Amino acid sequence: MDAAEIKQLLKAAGAFKSGIAPAEEVDADRMADYDRWLSEGRHASMSYLEKYNDIRRNPALLLPGAKSVISSVFNYWWGRSDSPLKWASYALGDDYHDVVRSRLQSVADTIVRETGAECRVCVDTAPISERYWAVRSGVGFIGLNRQLIVPGAGTHFFLGEIVTTLPLTPDSPETRTCGECRRCLTSCPGGALSDTGLDANRCLSYLTIEHRGDFPATVSSNPAMSDRQADNDQSLSPAIRFGRHIYGCDVCQDVCPHNRFAPISEIEEFRPRPAILQLDTEAILSMKQEDFSTIFRRSAIKRTKLAGLQRNAIKIKANDKNTHN
Ligand code: SF4
Ligand code: SF4
Repeated sequence: MDAAEIKQLLKAAGAFKSGIAPAEEVDADRMADYDRWLSEGRHASMSYLEKYNDIRRNPALLLPGAKSVISSVFNYWWGRSDSPLKWASYALGDDYHDVVRSRLQSVADTIVRETGAECRVCVDTAPISERYWAVRSGVGFIGLNRQLIVPGAGTHFFLGEIVTTLPLTPDSPETRTCGECRRCLTSCPGGALSDTGLDANRCLSYLTIEHRGDFPATVSSNPAMSDRQADNDQSLSPAIRFGRHIYGCDVCQDVCPHNRFAPISEIEEFRPRPAILQLDTEAILSMKQEDFSTIFRRSAIKRTKLAGLQRNAIKIKANDKNTHN
């Protein structure tokens, strides 16, 4: 079984694009950047990102004898959805961890059966640098918005890998960059993006999903308050404009020119659910746990729990009130 046959299997399993990299140690520069990012605390409270750095550095520690990393992307984009609230578009269908894992596992099982090689499937479940391997295997490049950009197709993709002991002919790494474009940096409502990466402490995706408890004081309830106004008052950190973000934030993808011609997904499980799109703040604030469990069954949104979703709805309501005062 060669690289072309495996890519054909992945395509049949729904992958939009796949590539192969040798399972060597991660570049020292890349790991130094990662270590610096951690030491600056820009991962906020996501302490799990500090663990298993040895495995992150070396895929052979994940699977002894690993020879190849097969990287694949799966399209979740069903077009822009109408909703009174802003939801991360990736989260509107079924949880990708389950969908992508089962599709990659079926391909891995075929590889094992036909070659006798060992395989390990990773879908955001193992300490490996998924975007790094997607670049190394020629699938795309990492934009200033920290998303993987698949040239000609954009950023609306889930990533998954098969690490295998099967030696395969590698693809050339992707070397394109963002060039002069800086739209995501200037449009980010949290001012979370810079040339040196993301500051999760200021990212609405982190704040609305991963962050527990009250929001930091930098999260503005006043939609009229701009970063510029806050900048002029040295006693304030620039405000994070919360807007109507109930779960996640897509601004740095919405403004990216690579998404202008984003293809529509063919993966039915990722189709946005009408039951989620129709929710407004009142519906969320009056939601009972039983309803939450039903509406978000098999959904990644479960991650924020009902309490987290209601905390976000309260913030949006405060914004609405300030807008109308
Ligand atoms: S997800 Fe939103 S807040 Fe986070 S970096 Fe992108 S634009 Fe900024
Ligand atoms: S918006 Fe521009 S700078 Fe940001 S990721 Fe897209 S191409 Fe790169």
